[in-house]
Amino acid sequence: MPELQALLDLLYRKHKPARGGTLASYIPELAKADPNRFALASCGVDGSRAGAGDLNARFTLQSVSKPFVFGLALAAHGRKRVREEVGVEPTGESFHSVIRLDADRKRPYNPMINPGAIAMAGLIPGGTPARRQTALLKGLSVFAGRPLSINDKVFRSERSTGHRNRAIAHLMRHFGSIPGEIEHTLDLYFKQCATAVDCRDLALMGATLANGGVNPVTGKRALPARFVRDLLTLMFTCGLYTYAGEWAYTVGLPAKSGVSGAILAVVPGKMGVAAFSPRVDAHGNSVRGLKALREFSARRNLHVFEAR
Ligand code: GLN
Repeated sequence: MPELQALLDLLYRKHKPARGGTLASYIPELAKADPNRFALASCGVDGSRAGAGDLNARFTLQSVSKPFVFGLALAAHGRKRVREEVGVEPTGESFHSVIRLDADRKRPYNPMINPGAIAMAGLIPGGTPARRQTALLKGLSVFAGRPLSINDKVFRSERSTGHRNRAIAHLMRHFGSIPGEIEHTLDLYFKQCATAVDCRDLALMGATLANGGVNPVTGKRALPARFVRDLLTLMFTCGLYTYAGEWAYTVGLPAKSGVSGAILAVVPGKMGVAAFSPRVDAHGNSVRGLKALREFSARRNLHVFEAR
């Protein structure tokens, strides 16, 4: 798709000069990222790829892992069981908000904020921590079409400083969720966040969702087709935290951001498009990524509610 390549080249050049935002530093290892990195990539449901910028730069998924782990939980347990642990209501609050955890049926509001995501990590099956880690990495790898691994430095950095997530998990345990050893589930959550990808991997993960759960490059099914809409709905309503409404209104695509500077958007039935640039705004969303994806959607007329 040559015109897509030309568009990504253009958006890369146009938004590269943007200098707004800062590196996330509450996970110390993330503050060591090169702030100038910038990459854009797309992958169609026919497997066609385009990309611009630092396509070889690796980064960690952080919260972009959340919809995929929600998917792994759905595939393992079904909708009914998963919905006992987590709601589907947007909160309009920041990703690590603890405040409303103890309201509304005493379960987290949705799987895109940390309490809900930690509950989903708690549902990854396997019995032992090692087997659960294997299930996590295997599950994510089918989306990416290659064996993914964990950035151990980022994992350790978050594990040793993640007091807020630890507090969230313990508060949830007080209300009866997260069975078993809390530290094991937190480790798994920190590991899903520390899973390393590049921008092309991320675009393919999105293309797999756009393609009804089948990886368009490998032909392997990553997610039962019936759960694809669950992920896309939550990405649409909750994917960008306190910016989710603004994003849905202006860009109009299911998407998920992470504090590493990654953003993944999905054009259902068409493609996945990913951006990576580490400087994030006050909402925790990549500044260049937002600008580039906003323009990508507008130029290609991709808002899902656009009259056509
Ligand atoms: N690992 C991060 C955390 O739990 C993920 C947050 C994010 O990417 N928004 O704080």
